[in-house]
Amino acid sequence: MRKRIYLSPPHLGGEEITYVKEAFDANWVAPLGPHVEAFERECAKHAGVRSALALSSGTAAAELASILMGVNGGDTFFCSSLTFIATLAPLVRRGAVPAFIDSEPSSWNMSPSALRDAFNDAAERGVMPKAVVIVNLYGQSCDMDEILGICASYGVPVLEDAAESLGALCKGRQTGSFGRFSFYSFNGNKIITTAGGGMLLSDDDESVERARFLSAQARDKAPWYQHSELGFNFRMSNILAGIGRAQLKLLPERVDARRAVFGRYAYALSGSPGIEFMPEPDWSRSSRWLTAMTIDPATAGTTSMKLMEAMSSENIESRPVWKPMHLQPVFEGAKYYKHEGRDVSGGLFENGLCVPSGSNLTPEDQEAVISVIRRELRP
Ligand SMILES: *Cc1c(COP(=O)(O)O)cnc(C)c1O
Repeated sequence: MRKRIYLSPPHLGGEEITYVKEAFDANWVAPLGPHVEAFERECAKHAGVRSALALSSGTAAAELASILMGVNGGDTFFCSSLTFIATLAPLVRRGAVPAFIDSEPSSWNMSPSALRDAFNDAAERGVMPKAVVIVNLYGQSCDMDEILGICASYGVPVLEDAAESLGALCKGRQTGSFGRFSFYSFNGNKIITTAGGGMLLSDDDESVERARFLSAQARDKAPWYQHSELGFNFRMSNILAGIGRAQLKLLPERVDARRAVFGRYAYALSGSPGIEFMPEPDWSRSSRWLTAMTIDPATAGTTSMKLMEAMSSENIESRPVWKPMHLQPVFEGAKYYKHEGRDVSGGLFENGLCVPSGSNLTPEDQEAVISVIRRELRP
């Protein structure tokens, strides 16, 4: 049987080992160290923000951001429904209550009109959310102008989950720079990886310094271990930061490669009835972290689930579009604001599929994926 074709495997460039060796040679095998500081500087520069904090995961960054925004038990917050649970689990674990915002069809990200509905509702009831959590899905930015404008008009801070959108632009500006706090993830399946890790980003250096303090067990300035509050053990190791530095240099190439993968799928399958690709609005330059499409069962002659099974039997990994949070058992009963009366994110889940999208996907392997899809479609 053919070697497995993965959805989004790591893609090393070769220079990572040089950075790791540097750490070994200097005996900087520790959390913190020169690679960590350099990686923070390089990520801040990439995003065009003042401050960055390297952490053990993107989820850790969301946890710290929720503390910095003062999200506590009993507070409410708005969150994009179409996402991975890591976006909001830290806020919910703090006791805050989510209200979910639908996607809009042109970007698959947060619908400005549904967000307006949610704010109108909140204003009527006199309970403003503590934060709005936006997500840049599959490498594509939200409609930042609209969304940030609405949030600013209510004075509510934005947390930007840019875990999937490192390297993607909104109107020429890097994602990861739009939130009061933003974060990247360097998990193994993301566009660049440190095996596991995350980066908190903000122009508010004072808050980032507070996050730095909390991320290393909240040690008071004293010669002994003294604590006036509770912190976390969330720092990134010097070795992993070395991997990240080498990977970050390759980011522009990785974005180009993912976009090329998307382009080949779109070219090969355009004109197939019932297949539509995730659109790219004119203000967006997606990194195409994952190539995502919808399959309309009425015209395609197959379903996303059948396609997934067909690929699986050929040892090809694919995955449904995220199951929206308003449909998750754990959030049963949560408020949900639809896009102009339609459940857009629910529809994307029902018919959506992500196909192998790695920057190291070979043309031959991609051809194999395409031929399975073609075989399953109505002739
Ligand atoms: C991967 C991911 C995260 C979490 O990042 P980790 O580094 O794995 O904790 C958060 N949000 C989204 C949308 C993601 O895809």
